[in-house]
Amino acid sequence: MNTITETSTAPSLDLLLHSPNLDATLKSITQKVLDNERITFDEGVYLYENAELSYLGILANHIRERKHGGKTYFNRNFHLEPTNVCLYTCTFCSYSRLIKKREEGWEYTMDDMLDMVKKYDNEPVTEVHIVGGVLPQYDVPFYEELFKKIKAHRPELHIKALTPVEYHYIFKKAKISYEEGMKRMVEAGLDSMPGGGAEIFHPEIRDQIAGGKCDADQWLRIHEILHELGHRSNATMLYGHIEEFKHRVDHMERLRELQDKTGGFQTFIPLKFRNKNNQLSHVPESTTVEDLRNYAIARIYMDNFDHIKAYWPMIGRETAQMSLAFGVNDIDGTIDDTTKIYTMAGSEEQSPALSTRELVNLIRSVNREAIERDTIYNVIQDYTEYQFPDEEVYKGYVALPVVN
Ligand code: SF4
Repeated sequence: MNTITETSTAPSLDLLLHSPNLDATLKSITQKVLDNERITFDEGVYLYENAELSYLGILANHIRERKHGGKTYFNRNFHLEPTNVCLYTCTFCSYSRLIKKREEGWEYTMDDMLDMVKKYDNEPVTEVHIVGGVLPQYDVPFYEELFKKIKAHRPELHIKALTPVEYHYIFKKAKISYEEGMKRMVEAGLDSMPGGGAEIFHPEIRDQIAGGKCDADQWLRIHEILHELGHRSNATMLYGHIEEFKHRVDHMERLRELQDKTGGFQTFIPLKFRNKNNQLSHVPESTTVEDLRNYAIARIYMDNFDHIKAYWPMIGRETAQMSLAFGVNDIDGTIDDTTKIYTMAGSEEQSPALSTRELVNLIRSVNREAIERDTIYNVIQDYTEYQFPDEEVYKGYVALPVVN
């Protein structure tokens, strides 16, 4: 297995600096990347408006390999989605069923959810990812009990649960502060928070697509409190709908600022808007080229985030593989067909599940190193040299049949 190192891309950056086809702004951005310097808001917008995919790929890959070499992370996880009925009516959402049509959705009980956790008793999963719609019966006491019962049953299972959208709602309903609420969640067993509910922070867009749920400051504050309590979280950005490039950069800027303050974010996850079965079905989806440009710009802009993740169930396996050359160094988990969020929005993967071996091979086949991690990026298994039990090994010759 080849290890791709920083030195393999540094000459490309030198070539860019001397290219007659590159304008002064792009050369200045290239120099900043070489010098490991941060780019500005205006430069971020400039990249979206002017930079070609090949240029962005060279820069993003340089940063990716400087940080991680060829390492590409994944984990073994499953999702628990308590309900898809929701009080909110986000226009991009294909997943939720309005409360007046709740018979079309599902609402799991505490026992249902514990049974789902127990289904994985003999599986080597390390994380349960819990997220779903917002409904009154799923309140602070409910989640405290759920987290405690999961921990009592399987203490080592990492609970990555809920977003500030749910927390803002349940804390308000319980009439407790964010500080008190997050403290109670952590005491009950919460280990980390996924990155959802961020959408696009700028109110010009947020009010149109996700009006009524927590705003940008509230979303960021809840993450900040979790970081202050010593726990980690991720951040997403839903792109490719009605936002402009400046809104994407504004979104990343707000995250970069909080990360400077707390250092508690691990991974930035750009999420592609899908247009099936929602109120924005008339909006065309972004092209694969735009998706790759977006990953690359995220890698260049988010200099203080360690990891950029491509969520393979959303963009499909082939695009996830390509993204590994555009700044991405994590492709999420095995998932085991336990999320409906993107399948209901028309994503390529209608039954998202990959065995560990399939995930490893997906990474290996684009010449990257597959590393299984836990939620907070401790290495569980390095698959670089690993050979699966019945895997054929090329010995450099072909044995001829013995003829006596
Ligand atoms: S995105 Fe989340 S909060 Fe919005 S309607 Fe869908 S499930 Fe509810």
